This record gives sequence, C-alpha cells and structure tokens, in this order.
Amino acid sequence: MELDPLLTSLVLSRSEIRRRNRETWTDIDWEAVKTDPKTKVLLLKSGKIEVVNNQIIFSNVSSTDKDLIWVDLGIDQVGTPYLVAIDESVAPAGWNDLREVGAKLNDLEVALLVTSVAIANWHRVNKHCTNCGTASTVTAAGWTRECPDCKIVHHPRTDAAIICLVVDVQDRALLGSRINWPDDFFSTFAGFVEPGESAEMTVIRELREEAGVDIAYEDIIYRGSQVWPFPASLMLGYRVKTNTKDPVADGYEISEVRWYTRNELKADCEAGKLSLPSKISIARALIEEWYGAELPQSWLRP
Ligand SMILES: [Zn+2]
Repeated sequence: MELDPLLTSLVLSRSEIRRRNRETWTDIDWEAVKTDPKTKVLLLKSGKIEVVNNQIIFSNVSSTDKDLIWVDLGIDQVGTPYLVAIDESVAPAGWNDLREVGAKLNDLEVALLVTSVAIANWHRVNKHCTNCGTASTVTAAGWTRECPDCKIVHHPRTDAAIICLVVDVQDRALLGSRINWPDDFFSTFAGFVEPGESAEMTVIRELREEAGVDIAYEDIIYRGSQVWPFPASLMLGYRVKTNTKDPVADGYEISEVRWYTRNELKADCEAGKLSLPSKISIARALIEEWYGAELPQSWLRP
C-alpha cells in the first residue's frame, strides 16, 4: 500500500486557533478577556449557532448573558480573542449544528465550533463531582471543574475510538452497514477503545467481532485522527489489509458487509444503491483516500 504521510482532507481537523496556557489563568486575566471589546463570542445554544452565508454570527461580551458557562477558545492569527458562551436553552429556528455547517465554515470557524461543541458536551453532563456528588464550579477559563467539597479538579474527557478501512489483496474495500442504518448506507468499521486495550488491539478485535475479518498487527497503518464530538469521541483512523476472503456481518451490530472495487463503488453510488458517510466524517476521508479522487457530494449522506 503506497500512502501519503497522513490524511489531509479531515473537515473537522483544520485547527487554526492558538490556545492559551490554561494553567496560567487567573481570575484577573479571565475577567480582562471577558471585558475586552475585541473579544468575539460564539453563542452556542443547545449545540447550535447562528450562521449566515457560511459564516458564524459572533456576539460581543456586553450583550451576552453573564450567567452562562464561558470558555476561552484562544486567539486567532491577528490577535482576536474568542470565547464560547454555552447556553442550554433551545436555539431559535434556523440556527445550525456542527453536522450541518462543519464542511461549509472556514478553517478558523470550524476549529472554534468543534471545540465549543466538545467542551459544551462535557459541561452538560459533568455538573456534579464524580467523586462525591457535590455541584462543581467552572474553573481555568472553562477548561476544568472543581469540587468545592473534596477539592478534586475534573478535566474534560475524550473517548478514544478506532475507525478503519479494510482492503484485501486485490485492493478492494470492505464496507459495512449497521443494523439501525438505512439499507443503502455503508461505511468503514469503528468501535471504542476498551479499558486495557491499545488502539491497534481495538482494530483487531472490532474487525474480528463485527465482520469476521482477521488482521495482522503489521498490516495496520495509521492515517490520522479527528475529533468527533457526538458526544465526546476522538476517532483514530486506520487503513488495514486482510487475507480474509469471506467476511461475515455479526448480525448484531452490522447487518451486511460488502467488498467493493472502485468501479463497483462508483456504479452503485451513481445508481442510487449505495450512500457513503457525510463530508465531515473521517470515514469519508478514509474511503476517499482509497478511492483516489474526491467523492461527489451526491454519493454522500447529508
Ligand atoms: Zn467532590
């Protein structure tokens, strides 16, 4: 397999924001940023933002509710500070979520949004100390929560998951359809890294479990990673080669598996018999890299 060093078309991994060192935050620094008239505020309401002409509509600090959860996002290349204000109230009609606008925003704005969604998801389900149950306090410019009772500092969590494109000795790609997906929707194989596993062990286990495919450790090639905040994953992407000729869907998580040559993939997509993962997904990037050309939007799920 001749491959480029790493995937370059990951829609949600286009970070251009420079983070500040959160360990050095003091209340004074934080308040100064919050009152700086240059600061732009991304107002996130239940995971949605206001977008017009593929650009985020930012708020300013003075017009935004001070009782929201505020998180520092960093500084752009011309020194503009960005904050997200996390509001759990319902978004107005017409606001959009990351899945809808992720592929349309510029590099800076998608970095701001993906970070905002990820940290908002963490705050939403971590309002109480996981050690003693006391309501925790937002600290370090929104990047930690501290328990006022047992003093434990809680850091945001990210769940590691693997995702892989399987190819055979003829360079066909194996795609699978999950039980709860539409019949024509096929993608790569994925699963969470379980306690005690390396990412490569997860690749080997998941493919054996879901598709009856045997993978040798030396046939696993890392391709890149992308945050997937639905709600809190980091997807580690791989290309793997197998000698297994007759993969079998487990019938539990995966309903069907199919081998595709590039011509068969094109023919099925054009005939409307196959749809592939959305533009923002790393699965799309893995399939596209194997296919060797950009996958038309009409082949992809919205
Ligand atoms: Zn506690």
